[in-house]
Parts: sequence; structure tokens; C-alpha cells
Amino acid sequence: MTVNLFDISSRVALVTGSSRGIGKAIARGLAAAGAVVVLNGLDEERLEGTRAELAAEFGAEKIFARAFDVTDAQAAADGVAWVEREVGPLWVLVNNAGVQHRVPMLDLAVEDWERVLRTNLTSAFLVGREAARHMIKRGAGKIINIASVQTDLARPTIAPYTASKGGIRNLTRAMTAEWAAEGLQINAIAPGYIHTEMTQNLVDDEAFNSWILGRTPAHRWGTVEDIVGPAIWLASDASNFVNGQVVFIDGGMTTVV
Ligand code: NDP
Repeated sequence: MTVNLFDISSRVALVTGSSRGIGKAIARGLAAAGAVVVLNGLDEERLEGTRAELAAEFGAEKIFARAFDVTDAQAAADGVAWVEREVGPLWVLVNNAGVQHRVPMLDLAVEDWERVLRTNLTSAFLVGREAARHMIKRGAGKIINIASVQTDLARPTIAPYTASKGGIRNLTRAMTAEWAAEGLQINAIAPGYIHTEMTQNLVDDEAFNSWILGRTPAHRWGTVEDIVGPAIWLASDASNFVNGQVVFIDGGMTTVV
């Protein structure tokens, strides 16, 4: 009998910030691979729209949704507890929710610095810790933190984003240092420039768009679907000895100058 190492049938996966963009694509990809998926976001109407769309594709018994603010410690604890109670044992957590804020550092308000750090980095600690409390008891679980090429590279005007995504690399390592021996695998996916709502203004900017194409060996923007295969790999038994890594999915951008 051959074993499908990528089989994630019936595993429960929570994907934060999955009402649109990369999170939605990862949620759809995990559902297509057989997982039971819990969607999350802030805007309840948008979240319900995505839930209904994916439920029509995969069946209502496979797609759940829970709106909560990933930056709120109590909301994160309640959200994870809800998943465990109402859906089943949480096997996969994808910490994907994130925001961008573009302004030169000399003009950056401390509130905006803190909002970006809280949404992109503190959230992964808060939701990750709650998920780990349950996963450790079972001796198994997968946490996938969504990083960025800005985990490695900086650009002007996005200081808090760059700091938060660099932090995601070391949070992934810190989680690994504490929880790998408990049977958890914690890794990060670092997408390159992906065409989503978050980047639509950059795609529309002719100068920036041609800079991206020239700067990327694969000579194109990434698509949300490009992230799906690596996410399934990191959610499945195919990655059981992969610990604390950041996998760059960037068309080669971080390998060249
Ligand atoms: P989008 O802006 O398209 O979607 C962001 C998602 O996060 C939405 O579902 C949003 O919910 C949710 N969200 C934001 N804040 C919170 C919060 N406090 N609590 C719960 N949910 C929240 O983003 P992308 O798909 O472009 O990006 C997703 C992730 O990928 C981010 O971490 C981003 O940094 C990273 N990334 C993106 C790249 C790109 O090129 N697009 C490249 C590299 C990394 P709602 O709809 O309710 O607002």
C-alpha cells in the first residue's frame, strides 16, 4: 500500500485572515486537499461571503468561519477554543492575517508602528500560543507563519512591516525551540510579491511593476495559487522533520541582486 504523505483529509485547519487574498487561497487549497477549514477575518460580511463561496465548492461540513481580532489575546483564546469545541482538534494553524502601512519612517506615527507590529507579529504569538496549548497535549500539530521577502530584505517606507516580518522569522525559531520536542512542526512561508488587494496599487504603478518584473528571476508577480503547494506540504506529514524554516516563494527574488 502506498502512503500519500500529503494527505490531510479531515484535519482541522484554522487560517487567520482568510476572507480574501493569500489566506483565502491557502484555505481553498487546504480544503481541496481534504482538510476541514476554519476561516477567519474581521469584517463579518466579507467572511460570511467567503464561507458561503467555499462551502458551495467543498460542502458546508468542510468550511467553518469565526470572526475574531487576532491582535486581541482574549479573542484569540476564545477563537481557538471555539474551533476545538465546535469543529474538532486543531491540527494546522496558518498565521496569515496581516496589514501593510506605507509611510517614510520620519513621518511614521507610533500608533501605526504598533498597529502593524500587533497585527503581523504579536497576533502570531497570541493565536500560535493558544493553538499550541491544545496541540502539545496531543503531541502533534503544524503551525505555518506567513512571512515575506521583507523577512530578509528592506525597502523604504515600510519599516514596521519589515520589522514585523523579520520578527516572524525569529518567532518561528522561538516556537520551534520550545515546541518541536512536543511533536509540533513550526515553519514559515515567505511569499514574494503576490498580486492581491494589498498590492493592487503597486501592480497599477507602471514604474513599480516593471521594477518587480526586472527584479524577479521568474519575471512575473506571484499568484495566490503559488503559495498553496508549499502550504499543503507544511500542513502534511510530508514535512514532519522540517522545523523552524522559512521557505521563500518569490520567483527567486531573494537569491539575486
Ligand atoms: P489582504 O489585505 O488581501 O487580506 C488580509 C486579511 O487579513 C483579511 O482577511 C483581513 O480581514 C485579515 N485581517 C487583517 N487584520 C486582522 C485582524 N486584526 N484580525 C483578523 N483578521 C485580520 O492581505 P494579503 O492576502 O495580501 O496578505 C496576507 C498575508 O500575506 C499577510 O501576512 C501579508 O503580510 C503576507 N504577504 C503578502 C504579500 C503580497 O504580495 N500580497 C507578500 C508577502 C507576504 P478583513 O477582510 O476582515 O479585513
